[in-house]
Amino acid sequence: MARKYGIKEVFATLQGEGAQAGMPAVFLRFAGCNLGYDVCPWCDTDWVKAEYTLDLDDTLDLVRRTAWEGFGGEVPGLLLVATGGEPSLQLDRPLSDALRERGYRISMESNGSRPVDRSLVDWLTVSPKQAEFAQKEGDELKLLFTGGAVPGITPDADAVRRIADGTRFGHYFLQPVDVPAAGGPNYGEVIRTVMQLGPPWRLSVQTHKVAGIP
Ligand code: SF4
Repeated sequence: MARKYGIKEVFATLQGEGAQAGMPAVFLRFAGCNLGYDVCPWCDTDWVKAEYTLDLDDTLDLVRRTAWEGFGGEVPGLLLVATGGEPSLQLDRPLSDALRERGYRISMESNGSRPVDRSLVDWLTVSPKQAEFAQKEGDELKLLFTGGAVPGITPDADAVRRIADGTRFGHYFLQPVDVPAAGGPNYGEVIRTVMQLGPPWRLSVQTHKVAGIP
């Protein structure tokens, strides 16, 4: 039986975060996560229930229609952000090959808890949510800085250094967590920590939230 993909949503927007912030992108958000809200109580994504369960052709069709509605076509080199939930649970060779054949440049945003086959993607962002994680190489490491306000693996600069130790990424980002009950994004302590850490660490701003886009 043909493989089906559990998809939460597909939408056209700009990539909001990290080194590719500002680039036009189709977001393909898969349903399902292998960590879940117990590990990440501040998770701001609804990934639980698949809104679509589609085979390869129908998945491509949904992506194509979204690109046409958003950008007037499948522009060669358009970024396809595979996200979730945890996209490495579902993005496989047939889907990767088919998206690339249509001209997409595939970016994946993984929690890094399981090894990612980097040949499936053109850009890999790893955003670990556990101190021990499997995927230690990629294009960018993006740590959400939980600081003192909410539970998490990054309460301070030393914890950030320990997590990054032995990793090999092209870019290192520290990003606020956005917990409304804790006063919204904790930019103050993130900026102080980036200044404490120094290069290669940089602040990642969730520009889509500033711009009011998805
Ligand atoms: S790994 Fe990511 S998507 Fe999954 S629960 Fe944690 S923050 Fe949410």
